[in-house]
Amino acid sequence: MKTAEILNKEKLTREDLLYLMNTEDPKDLNLIYEKAYEIKEKEVGKKVFYRGLIEFSNNCIKDCNYCGIRRSSGNVERFFMDKKDILESARWIYENNYGSLVLQSGERQDEEFILFVEDVIKEIKELSGGKLGITLSLGEQNRETYKRWFDAGAHRYLLRVETSNKELYKKMHPQDGKHNFENRIICLKELRNIGFQVGTGVMIGLPGQSTEDLVEDLLFYEKLDVDMIGMGPYIISDETPMGEEYRDKVMSKEKRVSLGLKMIALSRIYLKDINIAATTALQGLDPLGREKGLKAGANVLMPITTKDEYRAKYQLYNDKPCIDDTADQCKGCLAGRVKSVGDEIAYGEWGDSPHFFKRKNR
Ligand code: SF4
Repeated sequence: MKTAEILNKEKLTREDLLYLMNTEDPKDLNLIYEKAYEIKEKEVGKKVFYRGLIEFSNNCIKDCNYCGIRRSSGNVERFFMDKKDILESARWIYENNYGSLVLQSGERQDEEFILFVEDVIKEIKELSGGKLGITLSLGEQNRETYKRWFDAGAHRYLLRVETSNKELYKKMHPQDGKHNFENRIICLKELRNIGFQVGTGVMIGLPGQSTEDLVEDLLFYEKLDVDMIGMGPYIISDETPMGEEYRDKVMSKEKRVSLGLKMIALSRIYLKDINIAATTALQGLDPLGREKGLKAGANVLMPITTKDEYRAKYQLYNDKPCIDDTADQCKGCLAGRVKSVGDEIAYGEWGDSPHFFKRKNR
């Protein structure tokens, strides 16, 4: 009864969010998902927007304690796709009418890399006659770099904070002066000031993370006034400091999936008009994870369109799904998944977050 009452409120409080976050009764969980789907339908529609994901390099200067391609990992075959291969993937995305793509890689801040990305953005714009929307997910950079990439034609940027709890953030990152929570916030603010649609997100089900932390993450999204969210459950990557420390201590798959879905649903209920991705990590723990994510209020999917020979080398966590599928196989598979939920794929549309336009007109 209390769940239904809370869900009828116009604006939820921190206490309301915590109550819902701790709910485990299947009937109450269904009420939460139904409410989230209803709000999704009203605020952003039943369309699912695609972002073809090109993971073009696993070289990284950072050393995040959870990440399979961190700088110190000796067991990774490093790669850097050349421009021709990236443009070939971009052309596939364009010709298959996905509407948008995401360029993602490990972090680099050198001029050679910055210029390479700048050129690639311009050439993608050119090959698609300006029709492909471009999202970047290339980590922390300075304002000048972000501006160059924005001027080249990218218009959305995803930079996850992984957690808004500063102490937890410290545990997840080495204290080597290169991993700094405050800097990440500065980056998010710079991106917004430049004019990007800005996305962030967290990991869910981290060892040492409480449901209070997850509620604080939701309030953090609101405070930052973000346009998009990409978040998923924590999945161990074996040969990392966190993988070694928590191998037998991480919560069950079911619990992480349930919390992940609850975070999507509560983000939709609380923030309403933002874009929310159902990430591959959800599917990594539950074969139906992405469908459940759409049912819980997500409206964006990021199909992997990285060329086949590189896919298996871009593994941030164990047992990443879809690495043996081709882009064509992914396309058919995802179309079926979206249809099964009752949503519709918005082919050829950028699918920008309505929240972005509303905040610009405030
Ligand atoms: S999470 Fe990103 S920045 Fe951190 S080590 Fe992995 S690729 Fe690099």
